[in-house]
Amino acid sequence: MAKPSVQQNQRLAQLKQDVLVQMESMGHWSQENLSPLQNIPLAVLRKNATQRHGVTRFRRGARTTELKTKDVETIDLHPNLLSMEWNDYARFVLYHEYLHALGNRFHDTAFHQLEQLWPFPGADRGREFTQLMRQKSATWLWVCTTCDKKYPRKRKANRRFRCRTCSTILTDVPNMQEVN
Ligand SMILES: [Zn+2]
Ligand SMILES: [Zn+2]
Repeated sequence: MAKPSVQQNQRLAQLKQDVLVQMESMGHWSQENLSPLQNIPLAVLRKNATQRHGVTRFRRGARTTELKTKDVETIDLHPNLLSMEWNDYARFVLYHEYLHALGNRFHDTAFHQLEQLWPFPGADRGREFTQLMRQKSATWLWVCTTCDKKYPRKRKANRRFRCRTCSTILTDVPNMQEVN
């Protein structure tokens, strides 16, 4: 977890309002008391996170069998989700974390059903975001010399991996892209 900047805090506050208003407008949640979600502090993940886009952190000592909204210490979002081009996906990630904060601990069938209630676009952009974050944080590109496919990675392949498309052994090339 990193301490958010002033601008990040403004975006996080805006996302929180947007998602809570949207949840109130969804039939399913009209009966639920969403106001405890208002009090959960939002923060940001480390910039070089790639697979994790959001995390709900419960207080140490919280009873794991019966997690309550008041036991949530923070919800952290990936800092790159705060740019407007990712706004729709950022809202979905925060909705997903709010589902955890409401006591849904596991990604089980019931959880996925709740996720699918989200009626707004952007829910399907997770893979795209992961790929982009991998490209940004990659030191190496594993390059296929046959079909020119590139796999951005943090470590060298050292001739241990093959292209998923054509099975050629992949070659390590330094990734020159600026990290930001
Ligand atoms: Zn989750
Ligand atoms: Zn290939």
